[in-house]
Amino acid sequence: MGGPKGGGRVTLAAGWLIDGTGAPPRRGVAIAIEGSTLRAIGGLDAAAGLSGLPGEVLDCRGCTVIPPLVDSHVHLAFDGLHPGGAPRSAAAAEERMRQNAARLLRRGVLAVRDAGDAAGYGLRFARRAGEGGSRLHVLSTGPALHRPGRYGALLGRALPAGCQPADALEGEGGMRGAVKIVNSGLNSLVAFGRETAPQFGAEELAALVRRAAAQGLSVLVHANGREPVARAVRAGVRSIEHGFFMGRENLAAMAEAGIAWVPTLAPIRAMAERPEADPRERDVARRTLDHQREQLCQARGLGVKVALGTDAGSPGVEHGDAAVEELRLLIASGYPVAEAVAAATSAGAELSGFGGGRLRPGAEASLLVLEGGPADIPESLRRIRRVFLAGEELPLPA
Ligand SMILES: [Zn+2]
Repeated sequence: MGGPKGGGRVTLAAGWLIDGTGAPPRRGVAIAIEGSTLRAIGGLDAAAGLSGLPGEVLDCRGCTVIPPLVDSHVHLAFDGLHPGGAPRSAAAAEERMRQNAARLLRRGVLAVRDAGDAAGYGLRFARRAGEGGSRLHVLSTGPALHRPGRYGALLGRALPAGCQPADALEGEGGMRGAVKIVNSGLNSLVAFGRETAPQFGAEELAALVRRAAAQGLSVLVHANGREPVARAVRAGVRSIEHGFFMGRENLAAMAEAGIAWVPTLAPIRAMAERPEADPRERDVARRTLDHQREQLCQARGLGVKVALGTDAGSPGVEHGDAAVEELRLLIASGYPVAEAVAAATSAGAELSGFGGGRLRPGAEASLLVLEGGPADIPESLRRIRRVFLAGEELPLPA
């Protein structure tokens, strides 16, 4: 087959392979790439060395191969290091999103779900990326929907009075890549675990899910607390974003229904560490983070599909580096490395429509070569040796 630029036959001799399915790391593998496709995965014969492997052979025996990362919750138009709210102009937004994309690619994040900004900058970036304007695969929700007077103004727009969420999709002609709706407030930094009222009813959300599905769109829901999450789960949404304090019953229902969870630990961790914050707020943030990590353990036991998402663009949460941090937090919360990698790869690929979530014969040949063994993950994401996207080796970002 013709394949993209650089696509002939290449064999990677890798020290370890983590295939993105959650299966344990495999030691000593030969990965054959032909054109844009991963053709075969076999064992490395230590005695035979690298002779006899087909095509051009790349010696990666000191390295671990994993699929590219997917960050399932970012805000491309926001800068977590210099949080000053929304960009002041389209040109400023463009420049910021270009920088954020570069930061993501530098840490091996080749795909994101952009969870919106009020002006829809992320959605415009996603369209251009789809036309070849960036190597980053972007699925964007565009502006999120929220109830007038409730949380969500920074990320979206309020529904006009009397308007149902489903009606907001009318006349858009499939502009969005997905739909985001806000169904609670933010976590309290004053009262630990305080639940906010849901913004919408289960039937309103279900009608939105049906209308979105008719347009080929999935629905992601910002929701914290038992009732806001329970309504979204009953409505059959695609994923719950954040999900702080949602409780075991919701987790069990999500496992049953196959609804994904994007727990976004990085921003609350950033709050817990902020030196300039009120110590009482830092303390509430720390307890909130601990509670979320307990929920993650429950989710693992129940078989909930967890997808890594960082909320990058939130204060103190930088695009790219946050994915490394979020992966570290998943592992520190009891996820074996291969399961944490699955949350950061195949789970996110399913949510974002990225083609490179799993490494198996016949799949798209998209992968990262990381220095060191599986135990060096996630820090080895700062030492990426090679990147392949659909069979094409990309230059390493500076
Ligand atoms: Zn967000």
